[in-house]
Amino acid sequence: MEGLELLIDLHLDGKRQGPGGDDETRLSVALSGLRDSPGLHIADIGCGTGAATLVLAQELDARITAVDFLPEFLQRLDVAAQRQGLGETIKTRAASMEALPFEAQSLDAIWSEGAIYNMGFENGVKAWRPFLKPGGILAVSELSWLTDERPSELTQHWMREYPEVATASAKMAVLEKNGYTPLGYFPLSEHCWLDNYYRPMQARFADFLSRNNHSESARALVQAEEIEISLYERFSAFFSYGYYVARKRVAVPDHPLPR
Ligand code: SAH
Repeated sequence: MEGLELLIDLHLDGKRQGPGGDDETRLSVALSGLRDSPGLHIADIGCGTGAATLVLAQELDARITAVDFLPEFLQRLDVAAQRQGLGETIKTRAASMEALPFEAQSLDAIWSEGAIYNMGFENGVKAWRPFLKPGGILAVSELSWLTDERPSELTQHWMREYPEVATASAKMAVLEKNGYTPLGYFPLSEHCWLDNYYRPMQARFADFLSRNNHSESARALVQAEEIEISLYERFSAFFSYGYYVARKRVAVPDHPLPR
């Protein structure tokens, strides 16, 4: 196995494929104000095996289209949805987040946890906006600085890996510039990274390596994850995922925005 196949193999058995938490998804739902709205159509973009999708299906009166470009992950979500009696509520679609299979202005909300970075935050919020109804909700988690100043080693690391990393106020400015009104922000706690994501992944390393005969690429992948984990352990005071909830605003005369 190489590259993408190995990544799938490592992450397929995880409840989630990035930092997050059921309570945090519920908090984003509370901030969205959608709790009492009937008959919603929602998309969960980059849903992975669907940790957040399943919570959204429980919390909201909505049908949910869960999109990911890896069918292996979607199959796991299909099985979990069936098991929980949510097979009619959750439909999975294998598609790229850069070419979403939706009609213009057809969605009441777009959720996306730990995935928008794949196309870049600003690109993503621009590209997804047309699919939202006027007043529709965008709820995304995105790598964010927790402080205005931080150790230069950390700044250098993330500027290399994901130069769009920024403080919450800067992320909210991007939302405002691109036709959204921010409704709420909160940073994910350490629990979301360590207990919900990194520790369970570390517990899978041994089986993953033996399944893959300790191949060079399997060992390299584990090593890369370990480096990321130790970076988080050293510097968790300075970065996290921020959860941003915003509403698509109406166009202002003389200031045209895409639909
Ligand atoms: N939301 C899930 C998964 C986050 S990991 C969770 O929080 O657990 C990011 C996900 O985005 C992965 O499942 C990956 O397969 C998906 N992804 C990455 N690039 C993508 C693209 N271009 N289009 C669609 N999905 C993509």
